[in-house]
Amino acid sequence: VARLVLVLWLWPSPAVAAAVAEPGARSDATASGRQRPDLVLILVDALRADRLSVSGYGRPTTPRLDRRRSELRWFTDAVTHATHTVPSVASLFVGVPPRLHKIQWDPRTRSFPPNGQHPRLETSLPTLPEVLSAAGYDTRAFVGNPWITEENRFNRGFGVFEGWRAWDRDGTNDDKAILETVASVLEASSERPRFVYAHLMSVHSPYDKGHRELVREMGVDRFVNGLREASPRDITFMSDVYDSDVLYVDGLVGGLLDALSARAGSRPVAVCVFGDHGEEFHEHGGFGHNTTLFQELVQVPVLFWGPGLVDRTGPSDYPFELIDVRRIFTALAGVSDDAAVGLVSSVLPAPPTPGERLRAIELDAQKALYLRPWKYIVTREPFEERLYNLAVDGTERVNRVVVDAEMAAKLRTIAQRLWPELPYPAVDPAAPSLFVRLACVSGVVSVVILLVLLRRL
Ligand SMILES: [Zn+2]
Repeated sequence: VARLVLVLWLWPSPAVAAAVAEPGARSDATASGRQRPDLVLILVDALRADRLSVSGYGRPTTPRLDRRRSELRWFTDAVTHATHTVPSVASLFVGVPPRLHKIQWDPRTRSFPPNGQHPRLETSLPTLPEVLSAAGYDTRAFVGNPWITEENRFNRGFGVFEGWRAWDRDGTNDDKAILETVASVLEASSERPRFVYAHLMSVHSPYDKGHRELVREMGVDRFVNGLREASPRDITFMSDVYDSDVLYVDGLVGGLLDALSARAGSRPVAVCVFGDHGEEFHEHGGFGHNTTLFQELVQVPVLFWGPGLVDRTGPSDYPFELIDVRRIFTALAGVSDDAAVGLVSSVLPAPPTPGERLRAIELDAQKALYLRPWKYIVTREPFEERLYNLAVDGTERVNRVVVDAEMAAKLRTIAQRLWPELPYPAVDPAAPSLFVRLACVSGVVSVVILLVLLRRL
């Protein structure tokens, strides 16, 4: 079963195959006869899955989205492919995991081996904007992140690409200007459907940008990517300004959705709001992102909105990963008959039950596998394995690699096929052999002590 799952999972997505097969489709109607919709991707950089009141957070961080709750579809178990912006966005664009597009972040050296600081999107796989452009879409990007640039070839397929320098206001990105531009593009009439990608940075560290609506007590923003000590007061302060940043972005997104609801014309529109990775507030001793593969960094919010298109509303616990956003968008654009669109719309049938969907998350020196309810993390230098049962241990406290040795062995076997470069132990490090090893070590120690004592005598 594991091998079958693996083969299916490694198979090129039908969206990619369909996009390659019919690049010249230019009709303004999809196969089902619908007019091609405008498609809007709003990436909120470093947005944690659990900080949106619309999907259950206890603080009112998304009042504008809350008001549209009955119109929204969101995924309660969505994961990114990497906890760094560049490999995450690359996977979203080309529809494959990092090991296949080859942009991987190494948290130890803080670089992209082997290219250092120039992670270029050079894979021959077609990007989402290339696929949509070939299908007749007017494609535009408004990007606030300094990694997602023309220099790094993330402009592939975009007719218009306005990078971070266009939005920089004294070191802070003007997300308000980005979404106002998106609204004006979509409010203008057009013969062609539009695909717009907006990349917002308001939630990204450093957090304290002046939004303090949800701050309970003042503290210091001690942000750094990685392990760092901080007082509970400063941790709470950082988390509170972060929540206030989420509230700010909710206002901007709410404004865009209002503008799209009110616009003239009949072309449908679908909007996806999502995070490229999460953010840590000391859950595992650190801050920021691109450092570990724990839940606070891997889980991301993914919400769809689209009157007439998105009619499967409310939460879905489908085991979602970011490349599904690409599959849904190509399907909505009619360049693929991929069943993924059924996740948000009844226009096409819902995908088959997820069953044992295997999901992988990859940094250069750390990898994770999800197979419900299990999560397996493996790191190299030092080689380390962790196994968590997320059904009972959602915050990843108890490593079950020894107690649940059989499951650990199953996931290790899959990991060895996906990432053969990691230094797996020659023997199964599960309970019995661990015991045997301990016994051997204590035996050797006893013999040495005995020899020393004999010598002294
Ligand atoms: Zn990011």
